[in-house]
Parts: sequence; structure tokens; C-alpha cells
Amino acid sequence: MRTISILGATGSVGASTLDLIRRERAKWRVMALTANCNAAELARLAREFGAELAVVADEACLPELRAALSGSGIEAAGGAAALVEAAARGADLTLAAIVGCAGLAPTMAAIECGKTVALANKEALVSAGEVMTAAVARSGATLLPVDSEHNAIFQCLAGNSYDHVRSITLTASGGPFRDWSPEQLAQATPALAVKHPNWDMGAKISVDSATMFNKGLELIEAHHLFPVGLDKLRIIVHPQSVIHSMVEYRDGSTLAQLGPSDMRVPIASCLAYPARMDTPCAPLDLAALGELTFRAPDEQRFPATALCRAAAEAGGAAPAVLNAANEVAVAAFLAGQIAFTRIAVMVEQVLARYAPSAPASLGDVIAVDAAARQIAHGFLELA
Ligand code: NDP
Repeated sequence: MRTISILGATGSVGASTLDLIRRERAKWRVMALTANCNAAELARLAREFGAELAVVADEACLPELRAALSGSGIEAAGGAAALVEAAARGADLTLAAIVGCAGLAPTMAAIECGKTVALANKEALVSAGEVMTAAVARSGATLLPVDSEHNAIFQCLAGNSYDHVRSITLTASGGPFRDWSPEQLAQATPALAVKHPNWDMGAKISVDSATMFNKGLELIEAHHLFPVGLDKLRIIVHPQSVIHSMVEYRDGSTLAQLGPSDMRVPIASCLAYPARMDTPCAPLDLAALGELTFRAPDEQRFPATALCRAAAEAGGAAPAVLNAANEVAVAAFLAGQIAFTRIAVMVEQVLARYAPSAPASLGDVIAVDAAARQIAHGFLELA
């Protein structure tokens, strides 16, 4: 029996993970489950899975959590320090599935335990880059990528050396607006942006998919996870989302990982790693699909990938600044404060305004993130 903690248990990735755990209950003991403020759902999950501990990051939601857990014997806690403490309990496997840089400190705490961390929370790695990869090396932790593209690359790389890699190609669905004109994009609404054609995901990543910031963040994520050099990382639009990414080798072989557009597939590969487990996902029916298509990304209509590549090339604090600005801009778009096309403009403005020195510690990254958010909010007030 292995222990597991799920940071962000009430979210989309959290739900997919718990769905798999539910099918293999005898193999897992649930240590900590966390949420931001969804105390009712967190308590329901903690009771169902017999968790040791349930934590809400927002301390104001702790009384509700305590009330919902009363009589259960499950420990309840709240606040940022409690979240880090829960992660630091060091489950055999910690699933890092909080959305945004808010997940950075608990993810780092889990990494410091030197066990296995399955990482969905891409914003944490984008922001902390070298600080996080250094912590992984220092602690001896195993970092498994949950993101479907990175999980695909991880599988395609198995048993091969980076020296033989000619290129790595991340596939992108292109999101719900991939065929929209610039005029239509300027009118895109939050309701349409969160309706992804292939994947069922949380609101923030859905908007990121629509702007292509998701693919840009993934490019930075891949740069840290698979150090083959930025010049070897490519992006291709593949509307069917069947091929989740590919690795091309020096001999001309390209290995691709295919699967249904269901996060339970990459999550299962992390839960069972290095073995395999069953999932309830319908097998691929390639004959029914008929064809797989590809096209180059359009960086005129979707400038996010070029912004992310430039931030990765600049290195240092640039990816953390970019990520923070994007988080603020996406929240403002979802709240109806700014137009869809303003998201990339705001990110570019914040990057041009703020270029701090490279963060050397977790505290530095958190400080850069906070300062970049403040600057982004300043641009919102001007808008
Ligand atoms: P959701 O929005 O569905 O869930 C986010 C989770 O994080 C919830 O449990 C939420 O709690 C919690 N949370 C939100 N804000 C905070 C905070 N400030 N502090 C602590 N916890 C917080 O997101 P997803 O599951 O879609 O995505 C999670 C991560 O996984 C993201 O980084 C995303 O990019 C990545 N990812 C997601 C995929 C997907 O298919 N959804 C695919 C690949 C990667 P509460 O419910 O209380 O708000």
C-alpha cells in the first residue's frame, strides 16, 4: 500500500486522480487532500477516501471545513503554512494539481521530501524553473510529468539518451478559437473560451488553451523537464489531440504517444510508474477517427507562444514575470474586465516594464511573482 497526497483535490485533475484511486482503493492510503476554499467538496472527498488531513488554503474557509468534518476524526487545517505542512508530510506520491503559482510553495515542500511528485501544476515549474529542478536534484525526488504532452514525451524518451534527440514536438489542439479571425478573437467571451473542443479542464487552463499561452507555458515546462535545448523544442497544431507529443531521434525515427483526450491516461501512467494500470478510458479507434491533421501555429493571431519562447530564452526571472502577468490577465478576462486579445498585450507590457534579476531561491521566486502581479494590476487599472 502506498500513500498519496493530492494538492488541488477539488479541481479537474484532482477529480480525475481520485477517480483512478477509487478503482484501486486497496493500493492507496490517502494522507492529505487540499483545496482553496471549496470546503464542502473537500470534506466530502476526505470522508470518502478516509484522508488523514484536509486543508483549505484560504483560512477564512476553515470553519466551514471543520464543521463539515466534525465527528469524522479527519484533521482539518487552513492557510498557506498548513498547505506547505501538508505537502511536507511526504506521501510516497504527491500529486501537485493546484492551479497557478499558488501551488509553488507546497510543491517545493513535497519535492524536498525526496519522494515522488507527479506535477500537473505547470505554473509552478514555469515560475521556479532552475530553483525547482535544483531542488529535485538535491532531494533525489522523482518528478513525473502529468501534463499530457510532457507525459507523452517522458514515455517517448524512455530508455533513450538526450544526446540522440533531434527534436521534441509538443502538439496543441489550437483551442476553441483556432480558426477565428483577429476581429472575432477581440470579441471572444469567457463562456466560449472555457469550452475546450477536446478536453474538460479547469477555467484557467481552458483560457490558456484558447490564447495558446498553455502551449507556451508547456514549452517552458518542457525546457526544464527535458534539457535538450530550446532550439530543439517545437510546437505543432494538431486539432484532434490524439498524438500528445513526439520525440524525433538522430536516425530519423520519430516516437509519438497517442491516446484518448482524457487526463486519466497520463495520470494513470504516473500513479502506476514504472508499471502500468487499467483505466476506464475508451480505447482509441483510429479507423473511426479517419485522419489526423497538423498545421503550423499562427503566431500573428496567437502571439503567446512567441512571448513564452522569448521569456524562456531570456531565462532568469522572465518566465516568472510572464506567468504572473498571465494569471492576472486571465482572471481579469474571466471577470469580464478585459478583452480576450488584451491578455497577451498585458503580458508583453508587464515583461517590458519589469525585468528583475534571476531568482535564486523559492523566496525570490515568490517575491518576483508578487511584484509582477502588482504591476499587472496597475495595467488593469489603466485599461
Ligand atoms: P481547477 O481549477 O479545476 O482546480 C484547481 C485546484 O486548485 C482546486 O482544487 C482549487 O481549489 C485549488 N486552488 C485554486 N486556487 C488555489 C490557491 N490559491 N491555493 C491553493 N489551492 C488552490 O484546475 P485544473 O485541475 O484544471 O488544473 C490544475 C493544474 O493542472 C493547473 O496548473 C493546470 O495547468 C494543470 N493541468 C490541468 C489539466 C486539466 O486537464 N485540467 C491538464 C494538464 C495540466 P478550490 O476547488 O477550492 O478552488
